[in-house]
Amino acid sequence: MQSCGARLVDPKTGADSRRGGAGPSDHKAMTIDGMTVMVPVHTAPAFESPYLVEKPDAAGRSRILRDGRAIGDISFPRRPKFYDLKTADGVPYSSIAVLHGRDVLATTVLQTCIRYQSRTKTCRFCAIGQSLAAGRTIERKTPAQLAEVAKAAVELDGVKHMVMTTGTPPGRDRGAAILAESASAVSAAVDLPIQVQCEPPDDDAWFDRLRKAGADALGMHLEAVTEPVRKRIMPGKAQVPVERYFAAFEASVPVFGRGQVSSYILAGLGDSAQEILAVCERLVAIGVYPFVVPFVPISGTPLESHPSPSSSFMDSILNPLARMLLEGGLRSVDVKAGCAKCGACSALSAYERSAMPMGACA
Ligand code: SF4
Repeated sequence: MQSCGARLVDPKTGADSRRGGAGPSDHKAMTIDGMTVMVPVHTAPAFESPYLVEKPDAAGRSRILRDGRAIGDISFPRRPKFYDLKTADGVPYSSIAVLHGRDVLATTVLQTCIRYQSRTKTCRFCAIGQSLAAGRTIERKTPAQLAEVAKAAVELDGVKHMVMTTGTPPGRDRGAAILAESASAVSAAVDLPIQVQCEPPDDDAWFDRLRKAGADALGMHLEAVTEPVRKRIMPGKAQVPVERYFAAFEASVPVFGRGQVSSYILAGLGDSAQEILAVCERLVAIGVYPFVVPFVPISGTPLESHPSPSSSFMDSILNPLARMLLEGGLRSVDVKAGCAKCGACSALSAYERSAMPMGACA
């Protein structure tokens, strides 16, 4: 269902869905069999999906139907209480950070990106400018605003970890500096594990600075793993070659720890399963968690009509990857913060559990 999405009888069901923004979007959080997953609901494939979610009852419980037949129960995380608050200068907290999955606070610290300025450079899957243009967010979240919202989200809604991503600003640090000042402010205000996400900065000293600022985990996202696909799908970002990513992974793992550095990889953009698995093998050997996610097109982006990968293609990656993670001693439950820990955008953690020997548990 993460590839093809679902249709909702009542589109207002559940917490507000995520539209636009950096990375995966157009999704709604749903809890199925105790696992919260992000399911595409606003994408072109979702409108054709064989899955239909009925209007939920007063307690937020609903059924999911496939081709008219009930196949399971589903519930929706409630609207977070912190969404009702505003800063003293009138900015809604939900314009500063949002709830992802069940218990993750997520923010895009800088909602603009040097890569997004022109069609020739933009990552073709990204919608970072859409939520800004629609007035659902603000361009730059200050450290003080992030600290205020994070404290409220912990106290009112029990969020368990925070993801801070950023558009890439001009400058050689590629966003590490604004992430460091943001992590520093949040960690001074509230006890909340933080993952920061950016492109590899020019200077590996930034890893130590980010760690000292309070970041517990780091994401540097390859997205596509082979240079030809990277150049086609993300021509601007592909100027930073895969080998620079690997040098940055080698430098950052000793700072953050094995399994606390991760890389988001989008399957379905043109890399073969073998190519993705070969890169995952290198990542796991270094101690980097490869978070492989099915590509889901976002409306309004150049890839809005690009198909999502089939479930058999995802299975051909996630099955061997789960065994690889097990052998490498990397587990999503051990990640302190971020997408690999949340797991809502991929079935990888479910594969991880089924790869475990009988009797072992997280
Ligand atoms: S996996 Fe990452 S992008 Fe997906 S819902 Fe969780 S925190 Fe958000």
